[in-house]
Amino acid sequence: MTKFPEPKPLKDEDIDVTLKPCPFCGEKPEVVETRDYGMNVYTIHCTNRKCLLYFGVAPYQQASEVIQAWNWRGRYGHE
Ligand SMILES: [Zn+2]
Repeated sequence: MTKFPEPKPLKDEDIDVTLKPCPFCGEKPEVVETRDYGMNVYTIHCTNRKCLLYFGVAPYQQASEVIQAWNWRGRYGHE
């Protein structure tokens, strides 16, 4: 399991899990790091401004967790 060290802007090569396309519109999602009550948290949002998920999913403390949650949602959306 990859540990995520100091927070920094996330690039594709930092993420060892491939994000599935948005379950609503099929556009490419984006991982966003933000701060919540002094902690770094991660969320994923759709890059399509008209999409329901443009404002993102509920944040997680680990980027790997939010990626898993996103991919699960994506799978659910397509079934
Ligand atoms: Zn979307």
